[in-house]
Amino acid sequence: MSVKPLQPELNRRRKEHLYRSRRVSEGPQGPELKMDGHPLLSFCSNDYLGLANHPDVVAAMQRGTEIYGVGSGSAHLVNGHSQAHHALEEELAAFTGRPRALLFSTGYMANQGVIAALAGRNDTLYQDRLNHASLIDGGLLSRARMKRFAHGDTAALQAQMASQERGEALVAVDGVFSMDGDLAPLRSLAALCRGRGAWLLVDDAHGLGVLGSEGRGSTDHFGLGLDDVPILMGALGKAFGTFGAFVAGSDELIETLIQQARSYIFTTALPPAVAEAARASLRLVRSEEWRREHLRELVKKFRSGAEQLGLSLMLSETPIQPIVAGSSVQALSWSRTLEAQGILVSAIRPPTVPEGGARLRVTLSANHSFQHLDRLLTALEQLKIQEVP
Ligand SMILES: *Cc1c(COP(=O)(O)O)cnc(C)c1O
Repeated sequence: MSVKPLQPELNRRRKEHLYRSRRVSEGPQGPELKMDGHPLLSFCSNDYLGLANHPDVVAAMQRGTEIYGVGSGSAHLVNGHSQAHHALEEELAAFTGRPRALLFSTGYMANQGVIAALAGRNDTLYQDRLNHASLIDGGLLSRARMKRFAHGDTAALQAQMASQERGEALVAVDGVFSMDGDLAPLRSLAALCRGRGAWLLVDDAHGLGVLGSEGRGSTDHFGLGLDDVPILMGALGKAFGTFGAFVAGSDELIETLIQQARSYIFTTALPPAVAEAARASLRLVRSEEWRREHLRELVKKFRSGAEQLGLSLMLSETPIQPIVAGSSVQALSWSRTLEAQGILVSAIRPPTVPEGGARLRVTLSANHSFQHLDRLLTALEQLKIQEVP
């Protein structure tokens, strides 16, 4: 007996242009960074509001370490739940207009925890075909029957739900789809779920901070409250520029998660200083509307510029602006063409996106200037004349 060799699969991935490797960056997150020693202008971060290196957020984290040290010491249910965590939960609940919020160490874990706590073997979980991997993985862990419906298609979901015979129903969607940048049809989904007595979980990792009044996210954008979207998940590692995630909802929901969400119970609490940083960033998210205004301007200018170049964009009004390449080879070749001009945009390939849907995922940040955008558009001109090698 010997273990299965790993090299053949690695070779296959390389041959199919699916091999992934990491780049090493220097210094703080921001549009201008150094990767593997080269200065690059980056258009692929999820730091949409440009808060990851904001002086107020950095100072809050420093003060937090002075008060709390670094490690939280244990899980929330042992002795790791600090005043900083508790205050952040209360502020996030108030911000999202929900009775309670519960912090998780990551968004990946929040989705796993909430789905597995609410859905079990006899239940059915409905997921949009383009949902984030963490929602899919949460579904697998729950052992619920999983049905995936056509992207953004409430009628298709309704038809699937009509044939469910037993158990509870939980519908999960991204509020803003992470690789496409479009919004879920939350109004019709919420109406359907209310009518059928199904749970609706909205993962607003990419909407929170970016959409809605004071950055309250996609549910606020559509004017939906707790009764429409009983389970709201938000990530703090994207527009908030920090780390961690939360689930917001009713008191009953949060108490259930505290008792039953295994990814909440069996893991060390976030460092309290990170919670302090997130509190500072929440204040900026709410008060600095200019960040969202500037982002909207950048999106508008990017779209008109890229369309003039004849590039194929997706129907997105968010800072996620993919350029469709089709094949992985094409996406990689475009990414290299941009990098040769000092622009960093990563190629997104299957299985992160469907087969044939490889793309450049351009993302914009409030820290990009119009000059930065012009540099991107100038570099993109080179893509028109590029042929697939
Ligand atoms: C990033 C992301 C997550 C995971 O959040 P982390 O805090 O990075 O684990 C979940 N859902 C969506 C849609 C995301 O984009």
